[in-house]
Amino acid sequence: MRPTLIAALLLSFNVHAADKAIRFGKLWDGHRVVPNAVVIVSGDRIQSVTSNGEIPPGTEAIDLRRYTGMPGMIDSHTHITYYWNGASGTTPLRQPRRHVAVTVFLAQENAKKALEAGVTTVRDLSASGGADVAMRDLIKMGAMIGPRMFVSGTGLRSYANSPGVTDPIAEAAKQAKAVLDGGADWVKVFGSTGSFDNVTGNQTVSYDEMKAMTDTAHAAGHKIAIHSYGPAGARDAIRAGCDTLEHATDMDDDTIAELVRKRIWYVPTIDHNQYYLENADDVYHFPAGAKENLSAYIQRNFATAQKAFRAGARMLVGSDAVYNGFGMNMRELAWFVKLGMTNEQALQSATVLPAEMLGMEKELGSVAPGYFADVVAVEGDPLVDIQAAVRNVRWVMKGGAVVVDKTKTR
Ligand SMILES: [Zn+2]
Repeated sequence: MRPTLIAALLLSFNVHAADKAIRFGKLWDGHRVVPNAVVIVSGDRIQSVTSNGEIPPGTEAIDLRRYTGMPGMIDSHTHITYYWNGASGTTPLRQPRRHVAVTVFLAQENAKKALEAGVTTVRDLSASGGADVAMRDLIKMGAMIGPRMFVSGTGLRSYANSPGVTDPIAEAAKQAKAVLDGGADWVKVFGSTGSFDNVTGNQTVSYDEMKAMTDTAHAAGHKIAIHSYGPAGARDAIRAGCDTLEHATDMDDDTIAELVRKRIWYVPTIDHNQYYLENADDVYHFPAGAKENLSAYIQRNFATAQKAFRAGARMLVGSDAVYNGFGMNMRELAWFVKLGMTNEQALQSATVLPAEMLGMEKELGSVAPGYFADVVAVEGDPLVDIQAAVRNVRWVMKGGAVVVDKTKTR
């Protein structure tokens, strides 16, 4: 036998030996329910999905028949590098300055909590110093455990009042290009005021600047996410042709109609202000009046999202998770059900739809042959009770590796 042939046989044996067979009482694959499912995983990919299928000899059998299987979830809006360890005398927004390498190391905890929430992919929208690019690459290399990341680098703002800038539109294009040259997958623009306890939504980036950034991203083969808390920035973001619109409260009917017509993804991030509300006193120490403002904003955010859904908008689950918000990434699912989605529609807005938004619809978001083996086991049935996907995640596989296993501790 020639040495090359022996090597080839050994290689195929090794791949075969690593195959895993996962059994679920019930699997929701992203589109339909498969009873008594057998999912065969080879390397980092799913090889087959069958009902009552045979388990081939030599595969490692993983019995999850007590649970419902579903695709690994995708959080379309995170800030995974925003880390806070809860040290006394600090708040998330009042922490000592850290070197970016320290931030990257510490943020592994956020990554771990996201995985525990069943999130195997995130789109991370703004980080400083290249921390997001570093985490994405370390995770891809297998040197760090965390969800696969699509990142935007530092979010861009207006250059209209920047010292030394004479042409803010040209500068906007230049900065968008610089973000992409720095390794970002997406461009993120903060098109309005609004963050943390500030729920004002005043447009800060002009239509012309948004258009320049959008055209630059698209010309480079990338996509752009525009943040606008209020309606004016949202209207201009849609006009400029952004790919995803973040937050966007108080949009009028015409703006929503344009959003739908242009098939722009809408990421309303309703729950993140609920998170701020719950943490306003003990964690953030927001000033008096903040909670009232947050409550009022949540109502309007919800009403706008409901109106958009009824008009046919394509919507995605984005937690806008920061600091101690990691681990609660999928609470947005409950808001989506509350505004009128079926449980399956809500689950798709955290699986198959964001996969399409990312341009990964052939590889992410479904449990199907050829897809990355990103699979979650939850206690209960999320098609009946959405909370099963929000807080009952017990086991997570990402790219063929088991990264969370709480099946024995309960
Ligand atoms: Zn955000």
